[in-house]
Amino acid sequence: MSLAPGSTLGVFGGGQLGQMFAAAAQKLGFRVHVYCPESDCPAAQVAELHTPADYHDFQSIAQFAQSVGAVTLEFENVPVAAAEAAGHYVPVRPAGDALYTVQDRSREKGFLTAAGIPTTPYRNVRSEDELHKAVADLGTPAVLKTTKFGYDGKGQTIVQSPDDAMRAWSYLGKHKCVLEKFIEFRREISVLVARDMEGNIETFGPIENSHANHILDVSVYPAESPQSAVEAAQAAARQVALEIDLVGLACVEFFETPSREVMVNEIAPRPHNSGHLTIEACGTSQFTQQARAVAGMSVAPMTAPRPAAMANLLGDLWENGEPDWNAIERFPGVVLHLYGKHTARPGRKMGHLTAVADTPAEAERLVREAREAIVRPRRG
Ligand code: AMP
Repeated sequence: MSLAPGSTLGVFGGGQLGQMFAAAAQKLGFRVHVYCPESDCPAAQVAELHTPADYHDFQSIAQFAQSVGAVTLEFENVPVAAAEAAGHYVPVRPAGDALYTVQDRSREKGFLTAAGIPTTPYRNVRSEDELHKAVADLGTPAVLKTTKFGYDGKGQTIVQSPDDAMRAWSYLGKHKCVLEKFIEFRREISVLVARDMEGNIETFGPIENSHANHILDVSVYPAESPQSAVEAAQAAARQVALEIDLVGLACVEFFETPSREVMVNEIAPRPHNSGHLTIEACGTSQFTQQARAVAGMSVAPMTAPRPAAMANLLGDLWENGEPDWNAIERFPGVVLHLYGKHTARPGRKMGHLTAVADTPAEAERLVREAREAIVRPRRG
């Protein structure tokens, strides 16, 4: 049975994804309780309730869980023990098992391989012997990634040649790693997938993503992928949702190869930066889907009648002072989202811009031009 409007949904994590989740949940009539250690986090600025406690504080987690009807999360590195502790009282969606799978790149790759879902060829690296064997098997260049806590390009480095392997592994602290074949991809794409308690699945995408300094820069919907790649990516995303027994919303990121194959790079069992454009582009955004599924409601169709694009606003834009927000007035179709973070640091996601237009290229042009327009010139 679904939770009635007026009930409270809990969310582990207090960043912008939690903030946009809270806003979507409130539109459906729910109250939101945020659990995150930081006192003035973006999500707590929007939610009705906030527990500022650590993820290892099981007493606080128990109290939090007893105050809500269901719990979700906005980042996948929530400790599995925290998710399980909350799960003693209320449903946690997605559940700790799904987190366990995706929190470790080696487990994630093993899961994908066992499920027959195409992913980048890889080898586990837990010793010097395995490292050299992996390089011999996959060739170079290759990408060495730590199994844990990698995001936005952190915890990874390129192995240029067999001689470079030890340097790369030492650089990553000789932690457990996976070595991946370097993919000369044609484009990077992502598919959002929502699944409800009844097992109904809705997908959205692919969205085409471009990165700058390993951080997502611009997303455009729909991707220019050929139909066969679109279908393969959607099918893979559905299968991921099924196999991890997802209840909630996830994003599956892919490399599309020149031969039009798709290979899963990563699974995020939560809303994703590339899906922000669904707020303006779709009747049901990624955050609304998450709230619906977490509350036990059915997922709704995610269709976008028009193309859309999103450009991230990173802290770098503050280099010469507060961006010129008034300049956005010249772009009436462009929507500004600011996350309420007080300190701008290079690489920190401070907000984003979205545009909906007649073509993907036009939407992309609009968000890029609007972003250019708010940059303050260097002083002096
Ligand atoms: P990740 O943290 O795994 O999402 O990687 C960050 C970025 O590094 C990706 O978005 C790609 O642009 C690049 N990258 C990661 N793995 C590979 C790979 N196997 N081949 C080529 N580029 C990669």
